[in-house]
Amino acid sequence: MTEVIDGNAVAADIRDGLTDAIERLADAGARPGLATVLMSDDPASETYVSMKQRDCEEVGIRSFHVEVDTDAPAGELYDTVSDLNADDEVSGILVQHPVAAHVDYSEVVRRIDPGKDVDGFHPENVGRLVRGDPRFRPCTPHGVQKLLEHAGVETEGADAVVVGRSNIVGKPLANLLARKADDGNATVTLCHSRTRDLAAKTRQADIVVAAAGVPELVDGSMLSEGVTVIDVGYNQVDGETLGDVEYESAKEKASAITPVPGGVGPMTRAMLLYNTVKAASQRAGVDVDLP
Ligand code: NAP
Repeated sequence: MTEVIDGNAVAADIRDGLTDAIERLADAGARPGLATVLMSDDPASETYVSMKQRDCEEVGIRSFHVEVDTDAPAGELYDTVSDLNADDEVSGILVQHPVAAHVDYSEVVRRIDPGKDVDGFHPENVGRLVRGDPRFRPCTPHGVQKLLEHAGVETEGADAVVVGRSNIVGKPLANLLARKADDGNATVTLCHSRTRDLAAKTRQADIVVAAAGVPELVDGSMLSEGVTVIDVGYNQVDGETLGDVEYESAKEKASAITPVPGGVGPMTRAMLLYNTVKAASQRAGVDVDLP
């Protein structure tokens, strides 16, 4: 029997687990607050931002929102970030990617207070993660770790193959899985578009995480019996949502697998709330239990 890892259920557990911490922080005068910043007319970005705001409201996190005109100079976005850095009611800042084409997103991220960088993309936070001392784990890789934990998948000593080396998913996840820690200690192979014979790599893995943005890239023929498969991919093809894994054939081989949708996606959203609560706790110097 293959376990289908239910990301919606695990994400709901995480959100429930955050409510006590949020109330404790609120009682201490430090209710967590997330500021979202949008400099885009892209309807998908608008939807993502409004989902994040709704998620916050549901668990008792305050949400703030700033929109910057897409034709405004970069300085206006920088000023917005500075104002939010200085605002005590804001624990976390998320600048929705992408921003207007004339603005360098990396420079915007560099201007976020690292203590409010709930995406975990600031160079200081990236450095800490690589050193094995993460402050904020980027939300999607953290969500993958939580799914593995909830499914009882042992990472210690496991051969893990991560397909995709982006800065937001593949690279941080590879670092986290290889980290000397209870939820790490895996032997990690990081694959990408120049990897020779991807199937040979995935076939020797105990854990395969697909984050390539290529619909159904990994199928059952590329997997060994009993593998755990985490599908990060989220691709719209002819009106259908497909992962980076060919689900039916992969499920025949896997002992555990995430569906798309309903796997990693809800976890990414839940871990943003987690990071916002963590940021508030660190700022206030109030210790809380995090799920
Ligand atoms: P990305 O920035 O486009 O990176 C894709 C990575 O996959 C690159 O490293 C690329 O290699 C590699 N790749 C592309 N084709 C490949 C192939 N044929 N074989 C092996 N590797 C290949 O993508 P991303 O932002 O990490 O996102 C990846 C997927 O996850 C997308 O479907 C995205 O929508 C999804 N996603 C989902 C969530 C969620 O919450 N569910 C969050 C984030 C992303 P090179 O480096 O050589 O180009």
